[in-house]
Amino acid sequence: MAFVDLHLHSRFSDGTYEPEELAAQARRCELAAIALTDHDSVEGCPGTAQACAAVGIEFIAGTELTAEHDGNELHILGYCLETQNSRLLTQIARFQAVRQNRIREMVARLNQLKMPLSADAVFALANCRAPGRLHVARALVAAGLCASLDEAFERFLKKNRPAWVPKFKMSGKEALELVHQAGGVAVLAHPGLNRVDEVIPRLVEAGMDGIECFHTKHSTATTEHYLEVADRFHLLVTGGSDCHGLSKGKPLIGTVKVPYQHLEKLKARAAEIRTAAWPPASS
Ligand code: AMP
Ligand code: FE
Ligand code: FE
Ligand code: ZN
Repeated sequence: MAFVDLHLHSRFSDGTYEPEELAAQARRCELAAIALTDHDSVEGCPGTAQACAAVGIEFIAGTELTAEHDGNELHILGYCLETQNSRLLTQIARFQAVRQNRIREMVARLNQLKMPLSADAVFALANCRAPGRLHVARALVAAGLCASLDEAFERFLKKNRPAWVPKFKMSGKEALELVHQAGGVAVLAHPGLNRVDEVIPRLVEAGMDGIECFHTKHSTATTEHYLEVADRFHLLVTGGSDCHGLSKGKPLIGTVKVPYQHLEKLKARAAEIRTAAWPPASS
């Protein structure tokens, strides 16, 4: 049986792997295909596509966009994207600028809390256009100001903690449209982590294609619940590890087993979207 991992981050957002390392890890896990889903970035896609081709692994270009509904954050995954789509690139550049300003704000708050960290130290460590909280956490640990990433999030960076800064978020509907107009398939990421069940019917109405049922942080019961939701709303099923590279011990890549058949259906939907045959005229 062939398996895929459709949720991976690289060093082009808050993952640690270079494209070649991702491809090598995918090969080690004997995955048939992987998707790169960096936060607010598609920059790693061409390089990862090339690295995957070199080791005989199918590659899906993706991203993970941050959206919001009624003050609750939700993440929208885009798959099979045209990574040169100009509107997508314009919007992504905007999200990245917001992320960079937000780093400065978070650091200013940390400084007020007598944590001597500089924004430049975070930018140097992040070394990418889409810096985020995980980079701030890593910088705090690297500077010896926190003992662990968990401590950094618990003390400072989690929602409503003193150095947490909300970032600009588009609506879920806008995120779906951005993905679709770039030829992509739009999927709700890890719903079990964001408590967004009540929003799902509206996202479905707005054209959402699928739901990430399999995820590292979903229990078996949570996965079963979302498989049932997918069935009820006729949604595609996806899944992945949400691996951010080397963390504690072994990386997460390949640990969430997603059968290839789900990718097959996702690609069929992408083909429909590109030929403008979706949504069907009757709906
Ligand atoms: P941001 O997009 O900047 O708000 O950062 C969100 C990212 O921070 C998530 O995608 C995770 O990679 C990371 N993250 C959130 N909470 C934690 C945590 N408790 N421990 C480690 N990483 C976390
Ligand atoms: Fe992340
Ligand atoms: Fe996410
Ligand atoms: Zn993710």
